[in-house]
Amino acid sequence: MSSSETRRPAVVEPTIFELGRPGRRGFRLPEMDVPAVDPVEALGRDNVRAQGPDIPDLAEPDAVRHFTRLAELNHHVDRGFYPLGSCTMKYNPKVNEDAASLPGFTRLHPEADERCCQGALALMYHLSRHLCEISGMDAVTLEPPAGASGELTGMLIIRAWHEARGNPRSKVIVPDSAHGTNPASLTLAGYDAVEIVSDDEGRIDVGALRAAVDDETAAIMITNPNTLGVFENDIEEIIEIVHNVGGLVYMDGANLNALLGIVRPGDIGFDVMHFNLHKTFSAPHGGGGPGSGPVGVKAELAPYLPYPTVTRDEARPEGLQYCFDYDRPESIGKVHGVTGNFLVAVKAYAYILSLGPRGLRRVAENALINANYLQARLKGDFDLSHSGYCQHEFVLSASRQKAHGVKALDIAKRLLDFGVHAPTIYFPLIVKEALMIEPTETESLESLDHFVDVMKAIARESETEPETVQAAPSATPVSRLDEAKAAKDLDVTWRRRTA
Ligand SMILES: *Cc1c(COP(=O)(O)O)cnc(C)c1O
Repeated sequence: MSSSETRRPAVVEPTIFELGRPGRRGFRLPEMDVPAVDPVEALGRDNVRAQGPDIPDLAEPDAVRHFTRLAELNHHVDRGFYPLGSCTMKYNPKVNEDAASLPGFTRLHPEADERCCQGALALMYHLSRHLCEISGMDAVTLEPPAGASGELTGMLIIRAWHEARGNPRSKVIVPDSAHGTNPASLTLAGYDAVEIVSDDEGRIDVGALRAAVDDETAAIMITNPNTLGVFENDIEEIIEIVHNVGGLVYMDGANLNALLGIVRPGDIGFDVMHFNLHKTFSAPHGGGGPGSGPVGVKAELAPYLPYPTVTRDEARPEGLQYCFDYDRPESIGKVHGVTGNFLVAVKAYAYILSLGPRGLRRVAENALINANYLQARLKGDFDLSHSGYCQHEFVLSASRQKAHGVKALDIAKRLLDFGVHAPTIYFPLIVKEALMIEPTETESLESLDHFVDVMKAIARESETEPETVQAAPSATPVSRLDEAKAAKDLDVTWRRRTA
């Protein structure tokens, strides 16, 4: 595997505007069979554009080929390995898409009368029950549209619970390994973050936690397994310490892929958690679609869930049993549209039903063994953030390569030359030159071995020809981008190139 294998594709795809030719059509409407109406007369001058929009005209095959070529230029999970730590970029089974494209779901209006959407309500109700069963929680809302939004929802629920007891309290504890969204969410909910350091093994330092809690502690937010891919072995003691001062325990459940069918957070003592349906339950995300961050709570906290909740009243006649419950006086209010990102829920429901309880457990088992296999095969070539087995992901450090002038960023870019997506880099912050690798359960031994071969080749290159790694990528449609300029000097206007 050498750099001679890597070639930049010659053709860069023009924009669709450049491809358009006036008068081309993909679809023609049938002749009108009603009299024409003047739009200005019908809608009023203020509501009608003086000039039509500048939309490119293309025939259907040209439009399809344009987007197919773009999809081929990009890296995606249907094309290759995507070990983006913490993001759980597993393959998304196509049966989910079949379910989510059923017209009964896609044509449903969010304000449709309950009698017309019993199937959708039933799906929301049963998905919530499944998430309760999987997590050991008592009630679930599907409203939050992302993990971070679930965190904020959970924090607001915790605040409401404390307020009902007379004092919202002021502090929330977060370990220094926390995902960046955790301190952001608790701050948005009006709390001050109290950071505690991890011990040498990357776990919460129980002594530091004991010293940090007091009667102003509203909660602790814990990611378990944590962002180093390590299970918090002292979790029961940690939960007890926080409960003893009257605080609640929040679990960032974005890493639930490691626990499915093995550990239920509710059974260990967590009070509130969020799920990432778009990670654990296989809905496309990132560039691939919207997310969903349901929140699960113990019964005591259920009154504070966002409204409406979906309930089932078995006293009602069959076919009319599911409904929205708006009568929730203690609710924190709405956090999104009432149905949440409904089609993501459909995909997660299809995924859960197609795997069943044993299949879900196999997901976690295979996620764990895949990550441990990679860790074992790569630990000779890179430094490892901690010793021992990992959960569903692990963190390498490129410190050894840095000695030759090769940074984690360079390694991430070089991987793209070999058709592998970069891992998460420089996170968690507590590991220098971090490369956070999460293979997920959907990868075959062959794709794991390919990744190992490539990583080993890059480790060798870092010593023998570091400049190749520093200059990567060389086989992608564009070379290394100036990300700082792109963020600071954003220009999204499109200008038609004149011929
Ligand atoms: C992805 C992730 C989040 C945030 O989820 P979003 O859906 O991206 O908002 C929070 N915590 C952890 C540990 C995550 O991996």
